Amino acid sequence: MVPQILVVEDNAVNMKLVCELLGYEGYRMLQATDAEEAMGILQRCIPDLILMDIALPGMDGLTLTRQIKADEKTAQVPVVALTAFAMKGDNLKAVAAGCDGYITKPINTRELPAEIAAFLGRAGTGAEGTPHEDPGH
Ligand code: MN
Repeated sequence: MVPQILVVEDNAVNMKLVCELLGYEGYRMLQATDAEEAMGILQRCIPDLILMDIALPGMDGLTLTRQIKADEKTAQVPVVALTAFAMKGDNLKAVAAGCDGYITKPINTRELPAEIAAFLGRAGTGAEGTPHEDPGH
């Protein structure tokens, strides 16, 4: 089964870049440009990974992550924050909000596929020093 990845990102350039890179790797991509759209998608399907921009119009990515992690239907889905390099505190905030890890923007096009594969490979085992137990995986 080809992994399905939901990208929540309001920046059209970043969205296109991520979806082209990961689509080329064979992943099935789902796209949401804000939290509301993401929640609508999560009502219909549970992706294998969520790439979450922190700065979104309306509800921000940290709040959306907290909701995803508080809902038993989606709590096990790894959430990887997309944080801006200039916003240094965002990585810690992302982990505190329940993100399983983070990728710093600008996105490194050479490294992104391997980073995503690593997050998928250790899905449910925690990442980036955030221990959590998941005996189901
Ligand atoms: Mn944004």
